[in-house]
Amino acid sequence: MPSPAVLVVEDEETIARAVAYSLEREGYTTFTAKDGAEGLALAKQHTPDLVILDLMLPKIDGLEVCRTLRRETSLPILMLTAKAEEVDKIVGLELGADDYMTKPFSMRELMARVKALLRRVEMDRRAAKVSPGAEPLRSNGLSLDPSTRQVKVQEKSVALRPKEFDLLAFLMRNKAIVFTRDSLLEQVWGYEYAGDSRTVDVHMRWLREKIEESPSEPKRLLTVRGVGYKFEG
Ligand code: CA
Repeated sequence: MPSPAVLVVEDEETIARAVAYSLEREGYTTFTAKDGAEGLALAKQHTPDLVILDLMLPKIDGLEVCRTLRRETSLPILMLTAKAEEVDKIVGLELGADDYMTKPFSMRELMARVKALLRRVEMDRRAAKVSPGAEPLRSNGLSLDPSTRQVKVQEKSVALRPKEFDLLAFLMRNKAIVFTRDSLLEQVWGYEYAGDSRTVDVHMRWLREKIEESPSEPKRLLTVRGVGYKFEG
């Protein structure tokens, strides 16, 4: 198998260089772009396996690059942001980034996330081949069909982002079992190392807004104080 190719779109040269260097040491092929326009051009030209994308970029910013890539490809995208407050923007705006890291980040952690993302994509690919039709899950007017990735509440279709779907599917399959944020990260996101548990909270909030009658008083996705979350019905 050829080594996976990673496109790094980052205007801060020292960061871009350090990331590319670490990726190459891990055996990946890399391309680097200094701004959003170049990033989109290189993505088209080289069709990489993954993109590491900075949020604040000259010419076309990272949000726009992410939107454009999402419209045209299913390429996994890992966003880099300078501020923790921008996390909600990335996760919340339905941009479709698969993961994010807040600067400053540890290179070791970034490499672990890259590896996990690529492995997940590979597993999804295989799963799609091997088992196209798993049984639909149903609970009190909520239904989730793993083969079509469709979710309905009282027979009305609800549009979920890929990770929202995966999280809901996991919790529905494990009804009434309480999971910690870290174990959800590991099971649903597949991180090898402890990731940022805010990812779980943000996705949970968005899921509740989509599938709960009253998101502030959830009846299906429950918070278990001091522990984590569970699905109740
Ligand atoms: Ca930047």
